[in-house]
Amino acid sequence: MIIDTHTHIFEKEFDEDRDKVIQRAKDAGVSKMVLPNINTESIGRLKELAMSDKNAFIPAMGLHPTEINANYRSDLETIKTELFGGEYKAVGEIGMDLYWDKEFEREQTEAFEMQLDWAAELSLPVLIHSRNSFREAINAVKHSRCRKGIFHCFGGTIEEAEEILSLGDFLLGIGGIVTFKKSALPDVLKNIDIKHIVLETDAPYLSPTPHRGKRNEPSYITEVAAALSRIYDLSIEDVAQKTTDNAVNLLKIKL
Ligand SMILES: [Zn+2]
Repeated sequence: MIIDTHTHIFEKEFDEDRDKVIQRAKDAGVSKMVLPNINTESIGRLKELAMSDKNAFIPAMGLHPTEINANYRSDLETIKTELFGGEYKAVGEIGMDLYWDKEFEREQTEAFEMQLDWAAELSLPVLIHSRNSFREAINAVKHSRCRKGIFHCFGGTIEEAEEILSLGDFLLGIGGIVTFKKSALPDVLKNIDIKHIVLETDAPYLSPTPHRGKRNEPSYITEVAAALSRIYDLSIEDVAQKTTDNAVNLLKIKL
């Protein structure tokens, strides 16, 4: 049994064949999928999917950093109402993204800090997106009361991994990057205990080898598990079991 701790299959990229994608995931052993929200417009789609199979889907609520624009204050109000009124297992997807442009850096920081506070208030873990903003994201977490979550799509150095783990009860979300030929991540992970690792796809993005360049989907997570089984010299079943336990404990998932 595998948990995909980060997938956006409620998005429009899956409108044509979502049922088949979900069936392929279940056939591959992916029995649970965490759904991090994107923006105010995706809330309806996310909830509809989550309600369709409460056993399989674990909804998370947040405003994604790349969705922060001039409307961010009213968007945050909408997200807050939804988060505090719903049954969410995590606050996400939240964080910082300074890759595309820095126009809304100040607003991203404010939104991230605010959502970290909500997570602390609700005692929920956070699902953090950080791109070209490692230091900014770390500082925001340090200055918040939030002490648990997942740094999703981790692709950093040993020092960065250790700094994340020193923040509290934080895990590293490992996805397709670990399967890429030139990735330095396998060597980094050799120094990190598997008790700190959870699996994810980030579908529809970041497909693992040999699906690179195509739309990603939760069933491809088996390629990530296979890469970790080589890194840690464990069976794929052991990788699945250990990373599932890590996710279950952090997100308080009922099996
Ligand atoms: Zn994401």
